[in-house]
Order: sequence, then C-alpha cells, then structure tokens
Amino acid sequence: YLLKDGFNIESFSPNLYPDSDSKKLREKMSAYYGCKADNIIVGNGSSEIINTVINAYCEKDDKVMTFVPSFSMYQTYCDLCSAKFVGIQSEKDFSQNIDKLISEANKQKPKVVILCTPNNPTGYVTKREDVVKLLDSVRNSLVILDEAYADFSESSVLDLINEYENLIVMRTMSKAFGLAGLRIGCLIANEKTVKYIWKVKIPYNINILTQYAAEMALENSDRVRDYISNVKELREDLTNELEKLNFLIYPSGANFLFVKSPIDNLYEKLMERGALIRKFNYQEVYYRITVGTSEENMILLDEIKKLMGGIYEN
Ligand code: PMP
Repeated sequence: YLLKDGFNIESFSPNLYPDSDSKKLREKMSAYYGCKADNIIVGNGSSEIINTVINAYCEKDDKVMTFVPSFSMYQTYCDLCSAKFVGIQSEKDFSQNIDKLISEANKQKPKVVILCTPNNPTGYVTKREDVVKLLDSVRNSLVILDEAYADFSESSVLDLINEYENLIVMRTMSKAFGLAGLRIGCLIANEKTVKYIWKVKIPYNINILTQYAAEMALENSDRVRDYISNVKELREDLTNELEKLNFLIYPSGANFLFVKSPIDNLYEKLMERGALIRKFNYQEVYYRITVGTSEENMILLDEIKKLMGGIYEN
C-alpha cells in the first residue's frame, strides 16, 4: 500500500542494467535517515550488506564478537569467510552487560563487534550510553550496529557516524516499511568507510523495479510513521493481554514480543490452529510473537484462551 497507485511495468526497460550506484534511491534514503547520500551503500536486503562487510573486513580466523542469543545469520556469514564467531552470553533476563562485551573485546581483539539493537529475537534495546561506551572502548574493531528494528524503538546511533570512524549502522526496509519481498537494506557510515566497502559492493545489486518501488515508498514515508506508531500501541496492548494470561514478557523495542509461556508446546498447539509464532530453545523454551494487526492479535489471544480452557472461554 506504500506504493499507492502501483506502477506500469511497461515504463521500465528490463533490457538495461539498473543504476549500479542506486543514486536516486540513496538520495531519498539520505532524507529519511538524516545523512548524506555519500554515507549510504544499498544492499539486496541488509543480509547482503552484513555478508559483504564481514567478508570485506575478515580474514581466516579473525574474530567477530556479538552477544548471544542474537540474529543467527551472523554466525553463517562468519563461517562463509572462515572468521571465528565469538558469542558473549546475555544475562539471565536477556539484558546485555556491555562491560562484559568490552572486557572480552579488549582481551580477544575481534576484527568486528556486532550489536543488534533492538535485538532479534529478545527485543532488548541497548542503552545509548552503552553503545557510546562500547564505541569509546573498542577503537580498533569495526563496530556494526544492526538497527533492523530500530524504527520501532526510539533509539538509533545514526547521528554518530561522523564521530566514530569505526561505526557502521545497518538498516532495512524489510520491517517497518513492510517491503521484505523487494529486498532492500543499507549501511550508513562515514564517507571513508563507505568508499572502502564500495570497492567490494556487488554491481547492479538492486534491480530496477526494487529501486523504483523503494523510492516511492520513501516518498510516502509518512504512512510508515503511522504504521510504526500503530505497531507500538498494539505491542503495548498485546503485552498487557498476554501478561493477564500469565505470560512472562521481556521488554521489547521491536515489532515482536519475546515471551515465556505458561502453556507447554505452545508453538505446536498454535500451529495446529493456524497461528504461526517462533520457538527458541535456550536451555528453556521461549517464543517470539510478532505484533500483528489488531484483528490478528485478537485471534491469537482467543486461540491461547481456548488452549487454557474453562475460565477464559467466552
Ligand atoms: N538483521 C536482523 C536483526 C534481522 O532480524 C534481519 C531479518 N530477519 C536482517 C538483519 C536481514 O533483513 P533483510 O535482509 O530482509 O534486510
């Protein structure tokens, strides 16, 4: 719906290569993210960007350090270039002790430190003062802030890219813009870092249709802001309702909730009823529930109430 009137396929020339620099798109992105177009490299999803950056910086056996649990693909990209993935355990409540990460980084001297905030799958938001402390303490490592879900929280360190030469922020249009199928993400960093990574950027990585559609979506970004505030409200409602049903909810700055359920095998039981959530096994079982539309959330809550039986049934 971001694309309003859609577009006419005939007005494109599929025989021609797309603009390899995604110039127009980067200009529109720079307005949205509050930086210069020269601070941006666009990727085929931020997945491509993470892979490119890890591969550009890491040689065999270089270390990449991040908190665990976090986005599982970081490990895969490390494996692809034989870098060593070093996971720093989060606290019991899935908060992250930045001093622990800093002290390990000072000992182990990783080439790259990745901080995913809000974190997937726990929703934990790293405090800005903690990010700054990290940036001040690990000057010799590249620090990647994966802000895939930052549109749903108030925190971002995009404004620090010119202050810290070793900072790369990654964003995506897959979440808040709802354009996961178009594959569009980006990195935002100071111009020196951008020039360095540009050398290994895959040419023509964003096809013509995606470039055009993403430009249109950015032109309609007021709708994204409405969507974001709606998700935040629904996130709060869903939290309250699940808490009433004795779920344990971890504070989330993303468009999902990370929970412990009072019902065993919740994933399997909801799946049978046509509702899909994610299951995680970290010594104990946890679930990640995406905040849906108010209708979807109501269906989910109804199904959970039915599973609980008796007292909750209307
Ligand atoms: N980072 C995080 C934390 C994610 O959860 C995801 C997608 N699940 C990505 C990056 C990649 O997103 P995309 O490639 O669609 O931009």
